[in-house]
Amino acid sequence: MTAPAQTRAERMRVPLAADVVKAAAEQHGVCTRPFTMEAGDPDTGELRYVAVPCGSTIESVCKPCALKARALRITQCREGWHLVDEPDFTPDTPTEDHKALLTLRADLFNAYQEAMRDGDLGEVEELREEIARTDDELRQLGMRGRLPSPDAPAKRTVKRSTKRRQDAPNLPRRKVMKTTVGREFAGKYRPSMFITLTLDSYGRVHDDGTPVHPHTYDYRRAARDAVHFAALVDRWWQNLRRVVGWDVQYFATVEPQKRAAPHLHAALRGSIPHDLLKLVTAATYHQVWWPPHDERVYQDGDQLPVWDSRVRVFVDPTTQAPLNAWEDAVQTVEEPAHVAKFGVQVHSKGILGGTEEAGRHIGYLTKYLTKSTGEVVEAVSERQAAHHDRLHAELQVSPCSPKCAVWLLYGINPQGAHNKLTPGHCKGRAHQRSMLGLPGRRVLVSRKWSGKTLIDHKADRKAFVTDMLAAVGIVKPVTDTSRLIWRKVDPSDQNAPPRAHLLMHAISERIRWRAEYDQALLAAGEPPDLSATTLAA
Ligand SMILES: [Zn+2]
Ligand SMILES: [Zn+2]
Repeated sequence: MTAPAQTRAERMRVPLAADVVKAAAEQHGVCTRPFTMEAGDPDTGELRYVAVPCGSTIESVCKPCALKARALRITQCREGWHLVDEPDFTPDTPTEDHKALLTLRADLFNAYQEAMRDGDLGEVEELREEIARTDDELRQLGMRGRLPSPDAPAKRTVKRSTKRRQDAPNLPRRKVMKTTVGREFAGKYRPSMFITLTLDSYGRVHDDGTPVHPHTYDYRRAARDAVHFAALVDRWWQNLRRVVGWDVQYFATVEPQKRAAPHLHAALRGSIPHDLLKLVTAATYHQVWWPPHDERVYQDGDQLPVWDSRVRVFVDPTTQAPLNAWEDAVQTVEEPAHVAKFGVQVHSKGILGGTEEAGRHIGYLTKYLTKSTGEVVEAVSERQAAHHDRLHAELQVSPCSPKCAVWLLYGINPQGAHNKLTPGHCKGRAHQRSMLGLPGRRVLVSRKWSGKTLIDHKADRKAFVTDMLAAVGIVKPVTDTSRLIWRKVDPSDQNAPPRAHLLMHAISERIRWRAEYDQALLAAGEPPDLSATTLAA
């Protein structure tokens, strides 16, 4: 008897080979959509194809990479939150080599200026290259910052009216000490804090975040607050540091609320009285000294400004008169175009290191990092979709920076205007439909948080695994890859293996590592770790 033939629907339900490979990769924590790179060894002439993880932070794009990225952020957050010792940022003293190169650079610069005076252009050109080479060498030796270019123009003094200075908020001020770690209480407790900052109300909202009265809801202020949110948050940290008198550090994430306004969750190192946080929040504002942009000069359907290649600015389509230049428009500004402020609500909570509560809050802080913005603020009802549409419409006519092409709708040539600009269309994140309520970076970490970059944290994790393995006698050969020449594989490369092959190879390698790692854990008397992200190396 033959088996009954499969129906079309049944055949369609059989998973595709590619899906099977992807599912296996996900299960083993291997990147599902790696780039293929070509690694050439100039000594042996050997050419290898290597799968390089895509590094996406978004789970719907690549789950294993997104989970690894989140795990690193969790480590970063945890390591800095209750730090007891000040992270060490003392710069290394410059070496003899540094000093010798700098002396050479000074001589070259003198020679350059002489050649300029003599008008010896050939010599000038040669010296300029020589100076650039010296700067490169200095950077390779390890030097931060940059030296001034030999023909740097003298700095123009920017005239600033005193009216336009940010008013100092009415807050007590102290000199900010260099310390970044919190105080210890009762000889053993060193609490840190979890805080949430929210923007002001734009009108009453329902539980789903949509306005009760859409016609009076202040979309304009909501849009501008979103655009300037990051600057407002920066000012808050500055003010807080001045009030408490020490260099407060933070790990913060920006998330959209249901009403699609950004709000900030932050782990803050050290402890600050709630009343003080409230005081700083109430006194903090950010003034935007931009030209007024309440009334559009060019409406939808109007002829828009056009680029005039002779005068190299945008001109009025009818009169051909150049639009106001950004610099001139800014000079005449009398009052801020917008003032961003927080709402009155401030949530803060003291949390002790190493507790279950600390772990829970770190999970909360990093919860949405693996989702794209569109996945976080998703309209599930028509009412929400209509609310998002109205906010988006306002954001499309809210300039996001002095360079924004939206300025042309207000009759202003944006800063550094060029012929590639399309009036009213700017690629800035603030205007994108999928970025509603999340205009900028989603993770904000202060410079002295853990004293490490994400790359340092990644190296720590790798070292941890290597040490575990070494403890049971599994020593991985350290291959020197520095001399290899890496290149992205050309799509037409006939020799490049199919992605599925690279994936299967990576999976089998990962399974082998995993087995070795579990063996090491058992030997160390610890139960094998079941998460797929441990080997995020
Ligand atoms: Zn990936
Ligand atoms: Zn823009």
